[in-house]
Amino acid sequence: MNFCVKCGRDCEESLDGLCIDCWLDGRKLTELPHHVDLKVCTNCGEFSFNDRWVKKTMEVAVQDAAADALRVIRDVKVNSVAMDVECQDLYVYVVNVHAYCDVLGYEAEDDSSTIVRIKNNVCKRCSRQLGSYYEAILQIRSGSKELTPEMREETLAMVENSVARQAANNRSLFITKMELVTGGVDVYLSSMSLGKSLARELGDAYCAETKESPKLVGQTTDGQDMYRLTYLVRLPEFHSGDVVIVNGRHCKLLRVSGHGGRVLDLMDFRERAVRRADLPDVKLYEKESDLREATVINRSGSEIQALHPDNYSTIDLRIPDDYEPGDTVRLVSIDDVFYVVP
Ligand SMILES: [Zn+2]
Ligand SMILES: [Zn+2]
Repeated sequence: MNFCVKCGRDCEESLDGLCIDCWLDGRKLTELPHHVDLKVCTNCGEFSFNDRWVKKTMEVAVQDAAADALRVIRDVKVNSVAMDVECQDLYVYVVNVHAYCDVLGYEAEDDSSTIVRIKNNVCKRCSRQLGSYYEAILQIRSGSKELTPEMREETLAMVENSVARQAANNRSLFITKMELVTGGVDVYLSSMSLGKSLARELGDAYCAETKESPKLVGQTTDGQDMYRLTYLVRLPEFHSGDVVIVNGRHCKLLRVSGHGGRVLDLMDFRERAVRRADLPDVKLYEKESDLREATVINRSGSEIQALHPDNYSTIDLRIPDDYEPGDTVRLVSIDDVFYVVP
């Protein structure tokens, strides 16, 4: 048992010879600096905390900046804080912090306040992006003369999704710009590894040919050669849904991947695999968008009758699965005979 040198009371716990009550009496437990500067990126709106840029709302960022600046004296632990934020103008916030503390197992409370000042800044990623920084160019081209707008949209969506996914864990990855050029589109990228991974991803998804070529662009300040990389992705002419010729047979291309493709033979409606090595020999016969359409008027067994799309005469067609009168079938003409493309 101790006794307090100030009030003389017996007490179980004492600090500096004082009972907890006398020790707490009039003592400041917490402290905030007069002001705290909070950096915000004027471009992306993220805030700088401990040398990292993070996404937060203004209110949360202001509170976190104040909480991070809160100091406590020895023997005091902060259990929780309640804060109120008063916005003086867009750049100045007064933050009052009410701290619930623990002093040797006793509860105590204290108030402190600070001014959080918002400082405009540009984060590293934005400054690179705004400065059009890039390390790699992804060139998306087609095996045919021109990349169709549909394929352009489809591949760019894939590129954008992939970059968004990778950038979630690595802020230095971004698309600097996209440029339409003769024959396709160029995507400027912040990192070589990003270019490499996108080229591989597109190559796998479309069984595209890819080529990598470095270009010397100068030297760093310490004399190292500096390169930029160009990744050329040449998409095959065909696309899933198109009618292609494989080993002399007309087939619907079902899908392609890094391992090869699958086709549906239009003569017997059997599915077949195409090895990756054989894909370069696949020839486009008719694009899916150019297929004709006809209306089914009758069905008997595995045959249907449909209206000829041009002269409305009746044509007989073999079918792989159920079609009912009134349905629309898609057709391809091979040697002047129509075949159903399921
Ligand atoms: Zn006392
Ligand atoms: Zn930024």
